[in-house]
Amino acid sequence: MNIILLGAPGAGKGTHSEMLVKDLGLRHISTGDLLREEVKKASPVGLEAKGYMDKGALVPDAVVMKLLAEAISGTGKSGGFLLDGFPRNESQAEMLEKELSSAGISIDRVLYLNVSEAVVIKRLTGRRICKNCAAVYHVVNMPSRKEGICDKCGGTLYQRPDDTSGTVLRRLDVYRKETEGLINYYKAKRILKEVNADLSRDDTYALIRESLGGK
Ligand code: ADP
Ligand code: ZN
Repeated sequence: MNIILLGAPGAGKGTHSEMLVKDLGLRHISTGDLLREEVKKASPVGLEAKGYMDKGALVPDAVVMKLLAEAISGTGKSGGFLLDGFPRNESQAEMLEKELSSAGISIDRVLYLNVSEAVVIKRLTGRRICKNCAAVYHVVNMPSRKEGICDKCGGTLYQRPDDTSGTVLRRLDVYRKETEGLINYYKAKRILKEVNADLSRDDTYALIRESLGGK
């Protein structure tokens, strides 16, 4: 099964991706993680992307598309994958469709995590990420057992530079202008399922599993 997770920054795409890929054996493809990986390596792509990311803007389509194409080409037809943070606008959605159809693959489900703005702002500004394995925590809702240390791998937790309050508002604005339109795009294709993402992690996850037909 190939799935797209759609939703505002802070809707819980990263958290639920982790749970879904584990439970369904999917391959997790997060363009945000791929980009942060490039930034960490200080590769030419990373250097180009960093300026956009720190501002809360979208990285140019061509740059993201290249990373995505590489990630998808590794998946083959078996197993399935979960796209997290991609596509972010209609042109990315169209490029994805072309890329997949030439490989004989299609998207089975788009899960739209619908979250309110007040919830998002609280979640993002309290979010902490593992430097080493990219696991996601929250200082209030989901603290690590030891402050500042990842439960899974012992790595150091940090706050993403784009999770500070001003940049969060900018990212929400970009989401509204560029990404929100994809809800109707995938509704029209009849593969969209909407899930209430204001609930606790486990309650939202239960709805997600239900919407996938218990698969
Ligand atoms: P969030 O969904 O919480 O904003 P992501 O990790 O998905 O976080 O993305 C972080 C940043 O990476 C975005 O603000 C953007 O700059 C860049 N980015 C990620 N995915 C894409 C994409 N598909 N197209 C353009 N930019 C992207
Ligand atoms: Zn970790």
